[in-house]
Amino acid sequence: MSAIQTVTMPESEFDTQWTAVEQRDASQDGSFVYAVKSTGVYCRPSCPSRRPRRENVLFFPAPATAERAGYRACLRCKPIGPAPQAKMVEQVCRHIEKTLDEPLRLATLAGKFEMSLWHLQRTFKRALGISPREYADSCRMRELKKELKKGEAVTAALYDAGFGSSSRLYESSNEKMGMTPRDYRNGAEGIVIGYITVQSPVGRMLVAATDKGICSVAFGDSEGKLLEELRAEYPAAKVQRSTAVLQRWVSALLLQMQGQRQDERLPLDVRATAFQRLVWNHLRTIPYGTTASYSEVARAIGLPKAVRAVARACATNPVAYTVPCHRVVRQGGEMGGYRWGIERKSALLKIEKQQTKNTEKARETAGNLRRLPRSCD
Ligand SMILES: [Zn+2]
Repeated sequence: MSAIQTVTMPESEFDTQWTAVEQRDASQDGSFVYAVKSTGVYCRPSCPSRRPRRENVLFFPAPATAERAGYRACLRCKPIGPAPQAKMVEQVCRHIEKTLDEPLRLATLAGKFEMSLWHLQRTFKRALGISPREYADSCRMRELKKELKKGEAVTAALYDAGFGSSSRLYESSNEKMGMTPRDYRNGAEGIVIGYITVQSPVGRMLVAATDKGICSVAFGDSEGKLLEELRAEYPAAKVQRSTAVLQRWVSALLLQMQGQRQDERLPLDVRATAFQRLVWNHLRTIPYGTTASYSEVARAIGLPKAVRAVARACATNPVAYTVPCHRVVRQGGEMGGYRWGIERKSALLKIEKQQTKNTEKARETAGNLRRLPRSCD
């Protein structure tokens, strides 16, 4: 291999990056650099120097790769080191954290950092995968959880965490934690969680639910272990074996594993951050028998750089199969991780592949039968 490698990329990606260079798009700083063949220099997308000719431009994912290809850093835009945007986003975060007890005013925030509201939102979301508002909410939620675990009175904790009115928190916590703050502090005390375990194609399967929906689906080797994990997650809940409603959901899940009744969406009652919700909802659209890579999912939810965060969201999925995180694999088809063991992941995918093949064959046969001459009637 020669020291100088040309990075080949699909035309569309070249176009996107070229547009960023043409527009000196500062929000793209840090996501790639461009090198100019005629000068031997590489720059940030926002470099104020004269624009190069398109045919002289090469793109590199990072300064190090441009250096390795023999280019040197531009003295004007200084492409090495953190992008000014990264610093800005960090400052915005610190500011949000310091002012949690005030309502978040985005316009004021944008003014303080001397940029447009649009630019602030976009840069922030590119860097962290969530909006400033979601960031503020997640900080408040974190504060709140800390206070609740310390045993502060709920109302005091609400105000300490920067939620102006308790009703607003209850709205937002019902969505984010699936339980009210009081429930959470008490380890889900008073909440009844019904469960059932059955044999599945990949070992023992536990399905547990509140009266709102399924809160846990897990695979394991024994009912005892699965139950232990469920109890650790909800230490004060009333956990009891329940067959009535759950039996129907379990049957639906088992049928889905065999490629039947794919369209039925089982109700969920899970705790999720805004980001997890975004990822999990998307996972539910990946069809049976197919897979997507972590980066494809990140692109699909509009956050192409959040690949690692997507992987984390998959790894923390509390409802196996119902949210089909097993259908997300590494680029190139490698398995990637699975909360319930990589062997189970690969077994589930194998079953789906086989079932899809069977269905196609059956359809073909049915088609052939229809084409047979109908001589007897
Ligand atoms: Zn430059």
